[in-house]
Amino acid sequence: MLNKQHIINRFISYVTIDTASDPKSDTTPSTAKQWDLANKLVEELKAIGMQDVTIDDNAYIMATLPSNVNHEVPTIGFISHFDTSPDFTGANVKPQIIENYNGKDIVLNADEDIILSPDYFEDLLLYKGQTLITTDGTTLLGADDKAGICEIISAMEYLINHPEIKHGTIRVGFTPDEEIGRGAHKFDVKKFGADWAYTMDGSQVGELEYENFNAAGAVVKVKGKIVHPGYAKGKMVNSMYIATEFINSLPRMETPEHTEGYEGFFHLYSIHGEVEETVLEYIIRDHDRGHFEARKEVMVKLTNDINEQYEREVITTEIKDQYFNMKEKVEPVMHIVDIAEEAMKQLGIKPLIKAIRGGTDGSQLSYMGLPCPNIFAGGHNFHGRYEYVPVESIMKATEVICKIAELTAIKKG
Ligand SMILES: [Zn+2]
Repeated sequence: MLNKQHIINRFISYVTIDTASDPKSDTTPSTAKQWDLANKLVEELKAIGMQDVTIDDNAYIMATLPSNVNHEVPTIGFISHFDTSPDFTGANVKPQIIENYNGKDIVLNADEDIILSPDYFEDLLLYKGQTLITTDGTTLLGADDKAGICEIISAMEYLINHPEIKHGTIRVGFTPDEEIGRGAHKFDVKKFGADWAYTMDGSQVGELEYENFNAAGAVVKVKGKIVHPGYAKGKMVNSMYIATEFINSLPRMETPEHTEGYEGFFHLYSIHGEVEETVLEYIIRDHDRGHFEARKEVMVKLTNDINEQYEREVITTEIKDQYFNMKEKVEPVMHIVDIAEEAMKQLGIKPLIKAIRGGTDGSQLSYMGLPCPNIFAGGHNFHGRYEYVPVESIMKATEVICKIAELTAIKKG
């Protein structure tokens, strides 16, 4: 049995260390304060008895739990990130523990009247009777993804203390800067040396994800011509009007606010316009690779059409791929998803398999040669003051890790 108080203490020891990342920084980790938790994690991994504990110049941490069986077993890995989102402050996190949650409103901060309510966040009702960890309403919590770290370390500790559970070699990886999209960038897949891995970075209990968006960014520059407005007839070209033509030529319903599930979109997230120049910034998203490529072509064709209409190059469109759907890399090794699903079922957890409407570090790692589905870490309402995590979910995720290790080591045939 896992010790609940021990897990609570461990989790709180992580979230009370500020590790917000910073997209404006070029260094890795992007903020020096991430070292504070990274160094602590290294010491803790050593203290629980992990082998080959390393931390590199960029604060990527790796460690090994050696196999305790004689036969050949694939090496598997578990990965989480220790930075928190720069979207909301992670300084001076003061976690509150609500035992035996009664399903009613939780007052996070009486002074500022900040309430965590199941009227708005229905998911809370899934956790009636459980122990919730919340914020005090003034910071994020950092369950994303310190819950994942807590689960991985707790699972390794449990396996070390219970040698009767048979498992192969297990690799652990903790990364900086996931929240600014750089968690996988400097991850040394070869050094990690696992056949496959799981990121522990999902939300609700049971989540298991191996599909995500294909993603690209597009910058559309429209050139105009400024002339004195009083003498502009036949001379002025107003780039903002041309930009508007471009915007209105893309399907209005294929936008984030009108799509869900497997529906892709064009998302215009920025306009900077003057007569002389207007710059539009888009992201393009689609789970289906064919549809994704078609969306990019639509933008290129529209650019060409408008240029033809004006008989000169008034628009240039630059499109850059950002990441791809990991499904392409995971489907050929589908047993790695099956094992995780089976582990959940054996523990009485209902697997919730769905496509991510975003990306994960696992999608990048999958394309770097490490197939890497994502498993729930238990938290909700990431990146803000309403973030919370049920301790029971952390414990379940810990059990899932142990069970995956066990199932992977079962000798076939
Ligand atoms: Zn995360």
